[in-house]
Order: sequence, then structure tokens, then C-alpha cells
Amino acid sequence: MENQPECVFCKIAHHEIPASVRFEDDEMIAFDDMNPSAPIHVLLIPKLHLASLVHTTIDHQELLGKLLYRCKLLADELNISDSGYRVIINTGEWGGQVVSHLHLHILGGAPLSEKMGLAVEVEEAPTKQTATQ
Ligand code: AMP
Ligand code: ZN
Repeated sequence: MENQPECVFCKIAHHEIPASVRFEDDEMIAFDDMNPSAPIHVLLIPKLHLASLVHTTIDHQELLGKLLYRCKLLADELNISDSGYRVIINTGEWGGQVVSHLHLHILGGAPLSEKMGLAVEVEEAPTKQTATQ
């Protein structure tokens, strides 16, 4: 997928809008989330425009591995490895993804909520039938 001119994260990747950059190489860039959910809240994105994890293929396997390992290195640099942290990839509508450019959230710096699940009670949650059902 080529650079998407209207994508806010493509614009950050190309330094067209400002961000507090924590790391950058040819393939990825990490920057502070502008609306942090924890004392440390860094976003790591590939420079390649991939709309979400759904849009990756086997060709992106190595890049995905590099992104995850970069999270580990960033966490070390941010001094949150000993206390612990969380890496999150919100994916698609029900996954809570707002920005349609693949990104990994790195959250830490304080104890995080144990809540990770549904927006509503289990009984109220809609379900989608899958092909295997
Ligand atoms: P998600 O809900 O997983 O799509 O998360 C998108 C995240 O991007 C949110 O936490 C936003 O605060 C963050 N965000 C959106 N625009 C920017 C921006 N220009 N600079 C930094 N963070 C941003
Ligand atoms: Zn993009």
C-alpha cells in the first residue's frame, strides 16, 4: 500500500506534521500519543501505509516482527521494562481502531487497568457469525 496523502500517520512518518519522535529508522517511527492514556504512551508505526493488522500479508511478517521487537527496545529505553507495560494493536471497528494506519500502542509508567475486554456486559454484546460456525 502506497503512502495515503490524507492519512495522519503517513503525514507524521513523512514529517509533514509535528510529533515528539522517540525513534525512527527507514521502516518505522515511534512518537508520543497526543492524548496519552498512561504516563508513557508511545505509538510505533510502520512508514508503509497498512490500514490495519487485517491488511497485512505474509510479505509483512518480517516487518511485524521488527515492530514488536522495537517495542521491547523502546520499553527498555523508556525504563518501563522492570515495572511492566502493555503493547496494544487496536484492529478494526470492534477493536476500537480510530486511525486507519497500523500502529502499536506502548503503555506504561504506572499500573494499568486490568480491563481489556468488552465495551458492554457479555450478555449484551452483539456477535458476528464466522464461516466456521
Ligand atoms: P487507535 O484508537 O488505536 O486508532 O489509536 C489512535 C491513537 O492515535 C489515539 O490514542 C490518538 O490519541 C493518537 N493520535 C491521533 N492523532 C495523533 C497525532 N497527530 N499525534 C499523536 N497521536 C495521535
Ligand atoms: Zn498511513
